[in-house]
Amino acid sequence: MPRRCTACDHPERHSIDETLVTGAPYRSVAKRFGLSESAVYRHKTEHLPAHLLKAREAEEVAQADDLLEQVRHLQSRALEILERAEKSGDLRTALAAISQARANLELLGKLAGKLDERPVVNLNVSPQWLELRAVIVGALEPHPAAHTAVLRALESVGNE
Ligand SMILES: [Zn+2]
Repeated sequence: MPRRCTACDHPERHSIDETLVTGAPYRSVAKRFGLSESAVYRHKTEHLPAHLLKAREAEEVAQADDLLEQVRHLQSRALEILERAEKSGDLRTALAAISQARANLELLGKLAGKLDERPVVNLNVSPQWLELRAVIVGALEPHPAAHTAVLRALESVGNE
């Protein structure tokens, strides 16, 4: 059985790691957390690098999650703008909002792929995209000219 590390088992392991990262002397770390100097030394050289690596990976996942959240927010804003533009009959803005929503969906697909290690989703068969398409087309039904123009634009997107 390998010897247990008193620093790793310490309830304040995070504080110990943080203190060691700042370059505090072993003696003061040992004193502060009630450990032996040799335990602190061994922990720093043998265990700390792995802890830091893990922390960095966790941070990267958290950042990707945060990014995903921001894109989701952008997406809901784009859909709001689309709705408002549709209500005021502003076709140019509606098309811009559709194009933005599509870019957001692509980004969401890429981010989801990165987070899940899955291949990037095909937009044309993604349920989110089909749902968005239906919402857009449905919203424009009372406006035949806009409806036709948007349908045409959506078709050209699908043919890319
Ligand atoms: Zn340790």
